[in-house]
Amino acid sequence: MTALIPAPAHDTPAHDSATPPGTSTGTSTGASTGPAGPALPGLRVAPTGLRLAKPAAAVASASTPADRAGGPGGHPAAPRREERRSADELRAVVEEAAPRLADATAQEVATWAAEEFGGWLAVACSMADAVLPHLVARAATARGAATVDVLFLDTGYHFAETLATRELVAARLPVHVVDVVPRLSVAEQDAAHGVDLFARDPGACCRMRKVEPLTEALAGYEAWVTGVRREEAPTRAATAVVTWDAAHGLVKINPLAAWTFDELLAYAAEHDVPLNPLLDDGYPSIGCRPCTSRVAPGADPRSGRWAGLAKTECGIHP
Ligand code: SF4
Repeated sequence: MTALIPAPAHDTPAHDSATPPGTSTGTSTGASTGPAGPALPGLRVAPTGLRLAKPAAAVASASTPADRAGGPGGHPAAPRREERRSADELRAVVEEAAPRLADATAQEVATWAAEEFGGWLAVACSMADAVLPHLVARAATARGAATVDVLFLDTGYHFAETLATRELVAARLPVHVVDVVPRLSVAEQDAAHGVDLFARDPGACCRMRKVEPLTEALAGYEAWVTGVRREEAPTRAATAVVTWDAAHGLVKINPLAAWTFDELLAYAAEHDVPLNPLLDDGYPSIGCRPCTSRVAPGADPRSGRWAGLAKTECGIHP
């Protein structure tokens, strides 16, 4: 398995527990777009909580395709239409593409997504691996004028290995890593709702730290790409490749829906894609540290998530 970053000790303190929302602790750039940040209609700045991996000023100026800066590889940003298409227009795109791409390869789906949505496309990444960002960025940059926004839900509870993988992805791939942060820091949430809310009400914790921030972030896009695979869990067995995401009001694309875990690893090895070292340490599915346990070999890969609870999903994939 390709594990490109060293595995720090697992008892590293939780990330960012005292950092105010909308401020950066990242090493790559760290610009804030908090409540007083730049307001770009339909663009990548949510009302609160988005922390971007590029200077806010650069984002603020990125209102036209020609102005939008590229990633570390120097790729120009993907062009954007002037206006985000309406829900009806996007649903029409789904109706046409869903049957046509149902059995397409992941590469074909990624190429279609890059061409269809350009700069209005976001890739969700938990930083368990960088296969999906690599796949989509490869398709986008092959068009000669594209880079990709990668949304990372920075809950404040991640493993140190996950944060290190996020840094590696930002440094090595032609992507913009957008850190989507909750309205409340961990310390503020502790003060408002009591410490360790995840242990008493993980649904509320996930809603505040994942679901609501992601919903705000996705409002700036026409489509998002996820790494959901059918074999991951029974609840994901019917995952469509292209579908209308009614909960978020945009197109949802799952290029890896038919992939096995071994196929994922094979792609990572072939393309030297960053992998979270925890994958090699008994964590086939990686979420927040308090809610992720090691899994016995051969067990359900997601059985380590909220182990012992009825909860199986955080709510971002309803
Ligand atoms: S996975 Fe756990 S710590 Fe993370 S947001 Fe959900 S309940 Fe909170």
